[in-house]
Amino acid sequence: MAVDSALSSPLGPPACENDAKALQFIEEMTRNAESVQQRVLAEILTRNSQTEYLTRFKLNGATDRETFKSKVPVITYEDLQPEIQRIANGDRSPILSAHPISEFLTSSGTSAGERKLMPTIKEELDRRQLLYSLLMPVMNLCVPGLDKGKGLYFLFVKSETRTPGGLLARPVLTSYYKSDHFKTRPYDPYNVYTSPNEAILCPDSFQSMYTQMICGLLERHQVLRLGAVFASGLLRAIRFLQLNWRQLAQDIETGSLNPDITDPSLRECFAKILKPNPELAEFVRHECLKDSWEGIVTRIWPNTKYLDVIVTGAMAQYIPTLDYYSGGLPLACTMYASSECYFGLNLNPMCKPSEVSYTIMPNMAYFEFLPHEPDSTGVTLTPDSPPKLVDLVDVEVGKEYELVITTYAGLCRYRVGDILRVTGFHNSAPQFHFVRRKNVLLSIDSDKTDEAELQTAVENASRLLREFDTSVVEYTSYADTKTIPGHYVVYWELLVKDSANSPKNEVLQQCCLAMEESLNSVYRQGRVADNSIGPLEIRVVKNGTFEELMDYAISRGASINQYKVPRCVSFSPIMELLDSRVVSSHFSPALPHWTPDRRR
Ligand code: AMP
Repeated sequence: MAVDSALSSPLGPPACENDAKALQFIEEMTRNAESVQQRVLAEILTRNSQTEYLTRFKLNGATDRETFKSKVPVITYEDLQPEIQRIANGDRSPILSAHPISEFLTSSGTSAGERKLMPTIKEELDRRQLLYSLLMPVMNLCVPGLDKGKGLYFLFVKSETRTPGGLLARPVLTSYYKSDHFKTRPYDPYNVYTSPNEAILCPDSFQSMYTQMICGLLERHQVLRLGAVFASGLLRAIRFLQLNWRQLAQDIETGSLNPDITDPSLRECFAKILKPNPELAEFVRHECLKDSWEGIVTRIWPNTKYLDVIVTGAMAQYIPTLDYYSGGLPLACTMYASSECYFGLNLNPMCKPSEVSYTIMPNMAYFEFLPHEPDSTGVTLTPDSPPKLVDLVDVEVGKEYELVITTYAGLCRYRVGDILRVTGFHNSAPQFHFVRRKNVLLSIDSDKTDEAELQTAVENASRLLREFDTSVVEYTSYADTKTIPGHYVVYWELLVKDSANSPKNEVLQQCCLAMEESLNSVYRQGRVADNSIGPLEIRVVKNGTFEELMDYAISRGASINQYKVPRCVSFSPIMELLDSRVVSSHFSPALPHWTPDRRR
């Protein structure tokens, strides 16, 4: 299609008229980042001026930044707990937002072991949709011809609950996939998925994955890009294929769907799609039977141009495995978002994962940045030292900041907990490298376990050792992503007082389970419902191992006075040292408890 030259963009020549508009929008927003931010804050403060929360700070109708910053405090989720609890319990008065809270989005970040509840309003769906609509126009600048085929995306809905006051509580993507924005999206040749909505929306994760995989196999030549939200999800799909290819091939051969797929809408949908195709079935068997699965992605889907998965942040640990299965296909990280707010996108999505920078879109929320000293434990927010937050356009290249947001849904100066480093600017909008999330020790999928949670888990589990007169003298941990799904490994050094009565395998297995029971609900959901995390493992190491670890750290320059046992390790020489001292290894023998209902 010819593109009106008046609409051509500095980012590159757009692929079509729609793309031209999207790219122009990005240009406008990023050129005018300062004024857009000013407008966004004024809009939020005007519409929410009568909320209980904002009236507390006596802004008296002011909508300027100076007044806002001087009167409204910077907060964390814990500070908002009472308000959120009231909304969850059914208080419909305008507590945080003048617009009614339409539902809660359940974050993968937790508070007291349960997912955080993020209030949202209806119109936020439009804002999320707007950000999504910018992704393909940018991608089309880098990869031509994506309208000639389809995307095989493994997308899932997760369980939802209602709060005592009757509001839905569910993950942001579940909310999006179930919305009309997604379900009745207009046809867009650049954004056609192999998965039918029925497969994406099926609440049973096995049936959903199975049917998405079969569609991907049926249309293997049309597939131009393969994706999931996070890298761990795509690897889970590959593992699923490893476990289920025989049945999948049989279905393809006979044209009749596995009887385990019982969802009526799926059966109806597949009655139309699935026809006997012995040749394809034979191909699937032939490829999957090979000893090596190296490059399996491009063998089965030979036209794949890139993998669309987030491999920044904690997901970087999966890059080598993805490279192995895909034969080194480019990895595209397209966007940066959260339950609280969608933040921005990567304007150069085919860059190397280590070079990914996200450009925050100034229309999504009002953004502030809390300077973060890379080596400090964080900035103390006390009344004596009011934090100096920096505005979006004023951040400095090379510096690290914690992201603080003020949203249309009513979060005011809310600390997201992400640490970002400025890498440059697109027009006047800064671009950020995602450095890490604060306080996350272990993560396999969307779970985030902090040091305190691990400590409690070890304490709870080690109670089982008391009757054996045994205690845990030291421990550390590791997210093992060599297995699919990955799993937590906790190294224990034990003090066994009576070697005749030392704890046996069964006891240590129960310790594994006790640790899992202590971990937060996102972890347990990953174990029980999503099968995204494997059984926790305890590796018992020889006595003296942690002293050796200290000697090693000191030999590399650590101060003997300040040495602390790292509660999580990933540095290869340390892993090698620990693994060479393992005397026994034990896995959790069962699933921990988890239900969609919150405990509180
Ligand atoms: P949730 O609240 O469960 O939606 O999780 C949102 C969090 O996931 C963000 O605050 C980040 O810590 C992380 N996240 C989201 N997008 C990215 C990304 N592109 N790269 C790295 N981390 C991300």
